[in-house]
Amino acid sequence: MIKYDLHSHTTHSDGQLSVEQLLLRAVEKNIDVFAITDHDTVAAIEPAQAFIKSQQLPLSLIPGVEISTKWESFEIHIVALNVDVQQNELCDLLSQQQQKRAERAKEIGRRLEKNGFDGIYEQAKALAEDAQITRAHYARALIERGVAKTIPGVFKKYLGRAKTGYVPSTWCDMQTAISAIHAAGGVAVIAHPGRYQMSNKWLRKLLLQFKEAGGDAMEVAQPQQAPSERQFLGELSREYGLLCSQGSDFHFPTSWLELGKNLYLPKDCQGVWQTWEGQEGDAHE
Ligand code: AMP
Ligand code: MN
Ligand code: MN
Ligand code: MN
Repeated sequence: MIKYDLHSHTTHSDGQLSVEQLLLRAVEKNIDVFAITDHDTVAAIEPAQAFIKSQQLPLSLIPGVEISTKWESFEIHIVALNVDVQQNELCDLLSQQQQKRAERAKEIGRRLEKNGFDGIYEQAKALAEDAQITRAHYARALIERGVAKTIPGVFKKYLGRAKTGYVPSTWCDMQTAISAIHAAGGVAVIAHPGRYQMSNKWLRKLLLQFKEAGGDAMEVAQPQQAPSERQFLGELSREYGLLCSQGSDFHFPTSWLELGKNLYLPKDCQGVWQTWEGQEGDAHE
């Protein structure tokens, strides 16, 4: 059985393992087909390809990126898989998104400063180094200041929707992301549909509009998920004519989440990998 994990992060965004560390871990966990999907950047992809080649790692890399989009009042993440990372339209979109990330990070800093967190922007920025700055970096900075013990805890208090440090999103819309992904030869996948805290009615509306906008697939399997949720997402994928993906959304090693762990599709689900398998030589290396 081929082992797929099609969603992961490195230190180029909010992951805590370097490209090399992440790839070695993926090999250790016997993953055959692996996608790196950092937030709004493809900076990890070329170093990853070079490392796989120089170390002759027994793993096939799917170049990817997780694009933040705005849909209604939600921030919907769209994972792009198997993209040409040098394609112009995609690169232009990612530069705009990166600009927005940089501006939003400053605004988050201003809001938190007003609430007594002096120098918090500088602290989060230092944690991010050259990476795309995310709310996860702010979460780590706030944990260092003792406001909460865990990342979800900080989101609940300061960074989640409508909290003190929340800045309403200005991300691109879904259609723009899907078009750029297609221009770059990739497939567009709705990330973690179970994590948007929306009712099933809204989720269905999202899937319908995503499909109408040309979207290709949705994530159905994630490691930490009730079997009933996986089953339900599998049913929705068939109802809306979307292919199915699976990914750990790995950010750092923990005792409860691991690369490749507990990832399988319910039966009768069509894997998104069928779009690149069987076209040997066509997949972007
Ligand atoms: P951003 O893309 O800057 O909005 O940051 C989003 C990132 O923060 C996600 O990719 C997660 O890594 C992390 N994140 C968001 N919400 C939560 C949460 N409730 N608990 C833990 N991590 C979260
Ligand atoms: Mn993240
Ligand atoms: Mn995400
Ligand atoms: Mn992710």
